[in-house]
Amino acid sequence: MTPTPDNAAAAGLRSEPTTGLGLRRGLRLRCPACGKGALFARYLKPHAACPQCGLRLDEFRADDAPPYFTILIVGHIVVPGMLLLEQIEHPPSWVHAALWLPLTLVLTLSLLPRIKGAVIGFQWAQRIRG
Ligand SMILES: [Zn+2]
Repeated sequence: MTPTPDNAAAAGLRSEPTTGLGLRRGLRLRCPACGKGALFARYLKPHAACPQCGLRLDEFRADDAPPYFTILIVGHIVVPGMLLLEQIEHPPSWVHAALWLPLTLVLTLSLLPRIKGAVIGFQWAQRIRG
């Protein structure tokens, strides 16, 4: 039987919404309510509903927050690292390109879904829909 929002809550699959719990489960790419179901069907596409507890995940709109926070975090890692390396070693430009471009790409692609999960978890905890 597929869980529906009503019988999943009644069966005790879902936790009480708290901000820390929502953030942690979202960062682990899990449903914020039960912590067991996968949050995303594809890279950044959330399931319409949690496969475990039935929580409607399509009601949460993260919009531009995940890219904003991702740029903020990656920028605060890459830019100081680049400036520090330039001050200490003065490497040629190709070294900067070979080091910082792949690092930026890997950090961005790995952080973006986790940050989106955390934003959805935060919205779940604060009961922000639509
Ligand atoms: Zn769930």
